[in-house]
Amino acid sequence: MMAAAAAAERGNKVTLVEQNDKLGKKLFLTGKGRCNITNACPVEELFDNIVTNRKFLYSAFYDFDNEAVVDFFRDCRLPTKTERGNRVFPVSDRSSDVIKALRNKMESLGVRVLLNTRVTGLMTENDGEDYISGVILKSDGNKTGLYADRVILATGGTSYPLTGSDGRMLSVLADMGIKINAPEPSLVPFSTNDASVHDLQGLSLKNVGVTVYAGDRKAYSGFGEMLFTHFGLSGPLILSASAYVRDKDYSEGVKTVIDLKPALTDEELDERVLRDFEKEQNRNFGNSLGKLLPSKIITAVIKRSGIESDKKVNSITRQERLRLCHVLKNFEIDISGSRGFSEAIITRGGVDTSMINPSTMECRKIRGLYFAGEMIDVDAVTGGFNLQIAWSTGHLAGSI
Ligand SMILES: Cc1cc2nc3c(=O)[nH]c(=O)nc-3n(C[C@H](O)[C@H](O)[C@H](O)COP(=O)(O)OP(=O)(O)OC[C@H]3O[C@@H](n4cnc5c(N)ncnc54)[C@H](O)[C@@H]3O)c2cc1C
Repeated sequence: MMAAAAAAERGNKVTLVEQNDKLGKKLFLTGKGRCNITNACPVEELFDNIVTNRKFLYSAFYDFDNEAVVDFFRDCRLPTKTERGNRVFPVSDRSSDVIKALRNKMESLGVRVLLNTRVTGLMTENDGEDYISGVILKSDGNKTGLYADRVILATGGTSYPLTGSDGRMLSVLADMGIKINAPEPSLVPFSTNDASVHDLQGLSLKNVGVTVYAGDRKAYSGFGEMLFTHFGLSGPLILSASAYVRDKDYSEGVKTVIDLKPALTDEELDERVLRDFEKEQNRNFGNSLGKLLPSKIITAVIKRSGIESDKKVNSITRQERLRLCHVLKNFEIDISGSRGFSEAIITRGGVDTSMINPSTMECRKIRGLYFAGEMIDVDAVTGGFNLQIAWSTGHLAGSI
């Protein structure tokens, strides 16, 4: 939609083809229905939040940065507000208003929209080099050709396939000799077979540290909020961590280490526990941790400490106390895999960036063919950065 608007703004006659019966099905889901449009950080910091191929985005981000996105929507009469972590949302808190703004913009520029129509192939000709001549459309079981001088593909990734981003266009491109990197789920919850974690279902931990190891590699380290679910781990910290874990890593061993007391050093934590123990010395160990931990996790911590729950606090040895502190700073959970594309916020992989001119988004192999958005092998952490990628690359691709 952004690409179509940008192209129409430059006087091009534009047709947008969408296989769903409405526009922006995925956009509707974004930001839990509120749409985190972009992030209001300084433009240089946008790059720090890109996980894969950040240099490729240099021209796209400087051509149409986060301020330009906010200005664009303001001009569409969609005012925005900035929340915690510089996250930008529409003032109305409704993702449907973002879709409406884009739809109105396209309408005012005369963009023709074909719904319930799927692009099944690309038409090319050759005058010494391959160039695009149109697309093959399928609608109501009928196939037709649509001639065009230029085609912008923005068919999305492979995650949440029910929204229409089914990845089928990537296979079409691969068959045409365009290098595609295997799509993988990213910003996705972790699964675990650790039975003790299943008892923690529903527990949300705020202000914890999370470090994720993929084999011996420290893949991610962060501080914030996470959640235990019926299948494993989720929440902002876990989703961010998943961006740094590859599919192949799961077979080699992925481990999450939670620091339940990240504000305290080992020594400070030992002093804190000692102080608590002095106050609770005549109680059973199992009843002494209420001030230190949320009640739901106490049983799991006790089990891992190896200290008997009915042991009197005043008989706990120094060695046992240090073991408890170690568990509090290193609550380990083995990860068995990710929850896959159906729950992944984004897809990593897609059209290899070497196939695309980063100054124009044009395909290096087929003249007149352009790419935008999540189908390109670039991805970012949460916070509005993935939509910024889509707006910036879409706008640049449409600037033709
Ligand atoms: C639950 C959820 C929440 C999210 N929240 C945020 C957020 O708050 N902020 C943020 O920055 N990012 C968020 N994202 C990520 C963001 O939504 C995507 O990165 C972004 O939508 C990608 O835009 P796109 O245009 O490249 O692809 P998409 O939005 O996936 O759009 C692709 C469109 O192409 C259509 N299509 C596909 N193939 C064909 C074909 N062959 N013919 C015709 N049409 C076709 C699809 O039907 C679809 O409508 C979220 C994602 C999810 C799943």
